[in-house]
Amino acid sequence: MKTLIIENIDLKKIGELMTVSRLFCDTPDIIALGDGEIPGSFGRAWQSAATVSANLVVPITQLIQQEGYEVILMSVSTLGTGLAGPLSAALSAPVITEVTAIHPDMVVDRPVYGGKAIIKYKIESTPSLLTIRRKYFEPEALAGTTPSVPLETGDEKVTLVSEKIEQTEGIPLEDAAVIVSGGRGMGDPENFALLQEMADLLNGAVGASRGAVDEGWASPTRQIGQTGKIVAPDVYFAVGISGASQHLAGIANSKCVVGINKDEEANIFNRARFGIVSDYKKIVPLLTQAIREDR
Ligand SMILES: Cc1cc2nc3c(=O)[nH]c(=O)nc-3n(C[C@H](O)[C@H](O)[C@H](O)COP(=O)(O)OP(=O)(O)OC[C@H]3O[C@@H](n4cnc5c(N)ncnc54)[C@H](O)[C@@H]3O)c2cc1C
Repeated sequence: MKTLIIENIDLKKIGELMTVSRLFCDTPDIIALGDGEIPGSFGRAWQSAATVSANLVVPITQLIQQEGYEVILMSVSTLGTGLAGPLSAALSAPVITEVTAIHPDMVVDRPVYGGKAIIKYKIESTPSLLTIRRKYFEPEALAGTTPSVPLETGDEKVTLVSEKIEQTEGIPLEDAAVIVSGGRGMGDPENFALLQEMADLLNGAVGASRGAVDEGWASPTRQIGQTGKIVAPDVYFAVGISGASQHLAGIANSKCVVGINKDEEANIFNRARFGIVSDYKKIVPLLTQAIREDR
């Protein structure tokens, strides 16, 4: 099927969409947004420095119609989420958002109810738009670059006045292989330093539940869950986190969850592969010491 990827110039995001595109075609085309070379080998490539989705809908719609694309792939990101709805309306095409798996015969999975259930959709018409959840598909290693032609965007109807880049230190949560998260059970903000120490030793990142964010102990940019970040680390430590469904929705694709909670009835133990029923103030320093000795 004739497949188009629309993505910012970002090695991992394009790599993941490339993996997905192989399920539909041999070589996809791409509209790459932002500056820099386009990584990977595409059939055809268009590029634009414009990143405001409102200014991109018309030219991208025209290109999709002109070239007859059947499948259009975007990440679940500010760009993909901003484009998917307007493109769907402009093309009168179905859009399936937050896709986490693709099966034979064009059947795709989409989690609902905070990951408690999966809906399967069968794609029966083209063009169809899919937004793909990050970290559910192994990114393809992209070799080389593809020369591009400019995507003509015409007069910009919306002007970007200013942009405040989210300041996060260390590894972004979405890319971290290890996350050590704290909840309301941490008791006070100072104790997050214990989690940071452990995360640093594991080359990981520190996350938080909404309980901890509501207390003002962690920045909202660190919140994981239904209304926070969706993460998929190899190991997720949930420290003093009860395991509410809204939190679990953000860690559904974590490979191994370790729960540390002093309440043996805490719901986190229903999701955790390993559970430690104890006061974290005893356990986290012991784990940190063991990790340090093991290095
Ligand atoms: C629409 C909506 C969206 C939401 N979105 C999110 C979201 O994105 N992310 C999110 O996290 N929540 C979200 N929530 C909130 C969610 O329902 C929970 O209220 C929240 O996750 C609770 O945070 P918590 O587990 O840190 O706190 P609590 O529920 O207060 O749990 C604290 C835990 O710490 C344990 N504990 C206490 N002291 C210690 C100790 N010394 N050592 C070890 N364990 C200890 C306790 O046993 C308890 O289990 C949302 C809620 C709604 C309604």
